[in-house]
Amino acid sequence: MSNPSVENVVIIGTGCAGLTAAIYTGRANLGPLVLEGPLPGGQLTTTSEVENFPGFPEGVDGFQLMDNLRKQAVKFGTRFEQLLVERVDFTSHPRKLIAGDRTILAKAVIIATGASPRMTGIPGEKELYGGKGVTTCATCDGAFYRKMDVAVIGGGDSAAEEALFLTRFASKVHLVHRRNELRASKIMADRATSHPKIQCVWDSVPVAVEGVAEGAVSGLKIKHVKTGAESVLPVKGIFVAIGHVPNTGPFAPPLEVDEGGYFKPVNGSHIQTSIPGVYVAGDCADHVYRQAITAAGMGCAAAIEAERWLAEHHGE
Ligand code: NAP
Repeated sequence: MSNPSVENVVIIGTGCAGLTAAIYTGRANLGPLVLEGPLPGGQLTTTSEVENFPGFPEGVDGFQLMDNLRKQAVKFGTRFEQLLVERVDFTSHPRKLIAGDRTILAKAVIIATGASPRMTGIPGEKELYGGKGVTTCATCDGAFYRKMDVAVIGGGDSAAEEALFLTRFASKVHLVHRRNELRASKIMADRATSHPKIQCVWDSVPVAVEGVAEGAVSGLKIKHVKTGAESVLPVKGIFVAIGHVPNTGPFAPPLEVDEGGYFKPVNGSHIQTSIPGVYVAGDCADHVYRQAITAAGMGCAAAIEAERWLAEHHGE
């Protein structure tokens, strides 16, 4: 049997971090292989307008930005393969990435697997998720709720952004937050709270999604955290925007994660790991900034580290 080929560098993930790492390692002639998971292009593909990515004074569509990064990566020799890494073996060289009956061998690895939407876990949420009224992506599903009332759960930038986007379609957007002020940046919070179609529902937590028997959302039961009073918002769509969970499971162990599941910094570095030649970048390793531009910066740094490591250890 012939030996499977050994890749110079394998990048796991196609968000801002992964694609930037691909551009840099590609330009360094390393011929990177990028493994693409269930959300090609990462979280930005579910965003509408990105207003804070440097270099785009008029803003840029999230999907377009990721498509541009991908084209740029391809231009420098990046190859893509759809594969969901299930576990790794970093005990020997080359490193092993395992998915079903496939094993990919790599001299260096950059893990840029991002984060997935956190769900509330309330009854009815799972049953009515995806096409039945519960979703995590206003950009993807907002247009289905034309002239209907919808609810957004959460108080961060994502919730504010989702709520504002939904005002294009919905008659009314209930922004349900567990406290009485938004966590979102001031500019986003001001826009959301002053929008005539957005009604903030303060100090309230979701309790249940109604409509399971009918197979479609008919309301969101909420509870006021101070009075304990329960009520039902008569909405047809529920957009969950309560943050994200880092996609680090297949790599931990051997890599260490913190209590939130994010990769732990090693020797003060957010891209180094305890395994030589293995680096992490983007939202899977950053619970503080979590911005497209910081993810891209981490992807760039990880690529440069991988390149140096390969030059030192493999004479590339
Ligand atoms: P986030 O900032 O962590 O906010 C999560 C929100 O959900 C918080 O308001 C939190 O409430 C609430 N929450 C968490 N768990 C909950 C639960 N079980 N039930 C009810 N509510 C719950 O997450 P994010 O909004 O996704 O933003 C993540 C990062 O991306 C941030 O750094 C943000 O600035 C960035 N981002 C930026 C933009 C932009 O600049 N346009 C857009 C989107 C995201 P508490 O406030 O009480 O904790």
